[in-house]
Amino acid sequence: MTPASSDSAGAPALVIGLTGGIGSGKSTVARLLVEHGAALVDADQIAREVVEPGRPAHRALLQRFGTDIVTADGTIDRPALAARVFGDPVALADLNAITHPVIGAELLARRNAAAARGGVVVVDIPLLRDEHRRALELALVVVVDAPTEVAVERLVSQRGMDRTDAEARVAAQADRATRLAQADIVVDNVASPEDLRQRVDQLWSDLAARLALTATPPGR
Ligand code: ATP
Repeated sequence: MTPASSDSAGAPALVIGLTGGIGSGKSTVARLLVEHGAALVDADQIAREVVEPGRPAHRALLQRFGTDIVTADGTIDRPALAARVFGDPVALADLNAITHPVIGAELLARRNAAAARGGVVVVDIPLLRDEHRRALELALVVVVDAPTEVAVERLVSQRGMDRTDAEARVAAQADRATRLAQADIVVDNVASPEDLRQRVDQLWSDLAARLALTATPPGR
């Protein structure tokens, strides 16, 4: 594990990765950590921003995929784009080649800006890979975990998603064991929202203690 890092002279920072499968409760955990005082860098939000009209990735996507993938107001039609690359590895590779570098650069810039301000920085990445851990110098990775059936049930009951669609989306992700293997800390989200809140309170105490350690000069 990378040790907690002090990213600026005066303000120690603890930069962590947060991940979890769809419906696991990752966004809820991110929100609770922000309530405790964490700064949030959200990869999903960045992924949406970098393809907004006027941004270079928007132009590149139109050049590659044509005007069928934009709505009437010029924004990228995400379902249309997803349908376009589904089952077409070449198209998917092109999409990734256009978007991943700009998302990666923006993630790093925001991670660095947040770390320079000090405190706990949470980088929320739905599909976190080892490269992220290295490139973003994550001190540790927190995985929010819920059994597949529970995640599907929440997507159906709370998000109004069609059950077949929810099952397909959960199945299409990196499998649970692979995700859990990346974890330094697992937040179990199988029980109630209140139980989750308590687990995040404990997580915050743990993170605050680790941050305090980074602020203590060695030997004190
Ligand atoms: P996505 O990847 O789709 O954004 P997510 O992993 O971020 O999903 P959340 O949005 O946090 O998941 O949670 C999915 C749904 O389940 C939300 O409606 C959330 O309010 C609800 N939820 C989260 N945790 C619990 C819980 N312990 N009990 C009941 N509902 C929960």
